[in-house]
Amino acid sequence: MSVAAPVNLYSDTQSLPSAAMREAMAAAEVGDEQRGLDPTVNALQDRVAALLGQEAALFLPSGTMCNQIALRLHTRPLGDEVYLHRGSHPVIAEAGGAAALAGAQLCGLDGAGGMFDAASLEAALRDPGDRHQPRSRLVCVEQTTNLGGGRVWPLAEIEAVLAVARRHGLRSHLDGARLLNAVVASGVGAAAYASGFDTAWIDFSKGLGAPVGACLAGSRERIEEAWRYKQMYGGAMRQAGIVAAGALFALEHNVERLAEDHANARALADGLAAIPGVEIDPATVETNIVIFEVPDPTALLAGLAARGIELSAFGARVRAVTHLDVDAAAIDRTLAAIRDLV
Ligand SMILES: *Cc1c(COP(=O)(O)O)cnc(C)c1O
Repeated sequence: MSVAAPVNLYSDTQSLPSAAMREAMAAAEVGDEQRGLDPTVNALQDRVAALLGQEAALFLPSGTMCNQIALRLHTRPLGDEVYLHRGSHPVIAEAGGAAALAGAQLCGLDGAGGMFDAASLEAALRDPGDRHQPRSRLVCVEQTTNLGGGRVWPLAEIEAVLAVARRHGLRSHLDGARLLNAVVASGVGAAAYASGFDTAWIDFSKGLGAPVGACLAGSRERIEEAWRYKQMYGGAMRQAGIVAAGALFALEHNVERLAEDHANARALADGLAAIPGVEIDPATVETNIVIFEVPDPTALLAGLAARGIELSAFGARVRAVTHLDVDAAAIDRTLAAIRDLV
């Protein structure tokens, strides 16, 4: 009997570049990206701008840099306030960069599944006539929600939030780290979700399976300004076409297959719901993230690790994320191990 391969459900960032992706990367035409001379980076930027229904796009080393540059673009360090879900990535996982780099104040909104609604945004906005108060400036939406469990914002709710933003003169930003998961799960196009925002971005190093990179899109003028911050933050690269080729390959080959990740997450959620001692509402699993509760998460994670299965602790909960290196057999093995351990 052969030893079973490890199962890595820690995050979709753990997906490895395939042999075919590596071949595409090795064969990429490259040039000096900072001078606009890398044809592969230029092709990727054009493709993402078109995909998101925006005029232009900028290739960056990470999604975190997309968020940080957008915060910097849309706010001034004059008491500007940003509205976003209290569990969103800039609040919990960007090292406090909004305060340090943009000098912006974050106002975390509540709501189930990492989503807030237009009414709670409107209720949080400040009185522009009162100089005691912060200046309401920007709203950010995360699609899909990460901490919220991979939930898909309904298009109508996004439109309602954007209508409030327009009414009150706020800028808007879409953190689309997993936007294409939402697209595949809902059948709504990427541009339908993203084109109404002032800036929007997608990540290539999550479920799309590329090793590095993200692209921030917006108007030509804003992306020109974003270039300044890319330079300032040390994100300007040279022969970056090597990595951009992995992202182009991912857009070509790894988007539709996200449906398999969603089916695997669904199977995991349904299987978990049938295990006594596991708390999960499988109806909340819409894409590739599965969050559940067990009486002793630390013991479960250790027991799974001993069997070569890696999940992650998520506060008092446990998170599993499916991706292109996890197949249905791996889900079955994971369920059998959890059934055994809980
Ligand atoms: C991963 C993630 C980011 C940051 O992306 P990196 O490429 O890891 O820097 C931002 N927002 C969300 C919702 C994410 O899941």
